[in-house]
Amino acid sequence: MTKLLLLPGDGIGPEVSAVSRRILDVLAIPGLEVTEALFGGASIDRHGVPLADDVLAQALASDAVLMGAVGGPQWAAVAYDKRPEAGLLKLRAAMNVYANLRPARCFAALADASSLKRELVEGLDILFVRELVGGVYFGEPRGIERLPNGERRGFNTQSYTTHEIRRVATTAFELARGRGRKVCSVEKANVMESGVLWREEVQKLRDESYPDIELSHMYADNCAMQLVKAPLQFDIILTDNLFGDLLSDLAAMSTGSLGMLPSAAIGVAGTPGLYEPIHGSAPDIAGKGFANPCASILSLAMALRHSLGAPQAADRVEAAVEAALDAGARTRDLGGMLGTAEMGEAILAKLAG
Ligand code: NAD
Repeated sequence: MTKLLLLPGDGIGPEVSAVSRRILDVLAIPGLEVTEALFGGASIDRHGVPLADDVLAQALASDAVLMGAVGGPQWAAVAYDKRPEAGLLKLRAAMNVYANLRPARCFAALADASSLKRELVEGLDILFVRELVGGVYFGEPRGIERLPNGERRGFNTQSYTTHEIRRVATTAFELARGRGRKVCSVEKANVMESGVLWREEVQKLRDESYPDIELSHMYADNCAMQLVKAPLQFDIILTDNLFGDLLSDLAAMSTGSLGMLPSAAIGVAGTPGLYEPIHGSAPDIAGKGFANPCASILSLAMALRHSLGAPQAADRVEAAVEAALDAGARTRDLGGMLGTAEMGEAILAKLAG
């Protein structure tokens, strides 16, 4: 028995999640139990909090959580710690999901929509493995202080322990075994001690436990350049929280629309993963019925592959999305006229076929 909890959330979240639910119904995976709960603004409206205790308990007892999106102008006046986004941060922290998987995959049918030339992105399939709960976003000390000379000083600390580096590198090496067996580890060991440690520990782990994986190291600034110059050279890019934030956005956006981009956050094997589109609740188009559901559907595929023990179903879903795009199915963000449900139907037709 495996358990998937759907948290559709707010804005276009419920619209795109409804399509993923339809896909799940058609897949009819044996032993998969799917439940749904309120989250974000929708939960604030009902329960006064963005993440109710029983929903958090349900999430922790699941194998995977598939989120839609949270937030919107209706809740902008709510106290900061009660906002929809606070619920999401609480969920991520409670699930201890330290590895953020962000694919940058270019579907052939969308290659001309890329900001890079078709020949640079056609066939692109990079998986970023970004450390998500450490590094400069969390390091202490941090703050803004007043100096004796009256100036102000803002400071943050980049810090990584051996354990933090090795657990996320383990995720990258394990995933590499299911892909091209190639990992490029990215830091700035030339100017940062945390980068020196990162490089040493990743290399040590590879030599000890993953001799079958081809490991290379690259400085983050060069990686940014290479991602624009020759992105097809990469398979898995393993990097820290800050560089991963920047580089995965850069690479993902060169493959097309926000509406196409899934993500996953996973922790220790055997604990639930959190899957969500990159996009937000898109209040500007919510309720209009033309949001692109692909990011949600592709996030579902990642959940099937990484947390629900159904890699073949994941392949089928991704192939159906690709086939629908090849057949010309397009939502407005992709330059077409299909509504959310129609795009879903086009994908379902390919899934059934
Ligand atoms: P957004 O991602 O919601 O929207 C940015 C732009 O992209 C909008 O023009 C929107 O219409 C478009 N867009 C987004 N997803 C789309 C889709 N599937 N199909 C077609 N077009 C799509 O970002 P924003 O406008 O900065 O934020 C809106 C709200 O979402 C805010 O409250 C923000 O806090 C929240 N947000 C939530 C998450 C999350 O739930 N993980 C992530 C980002 C933003």
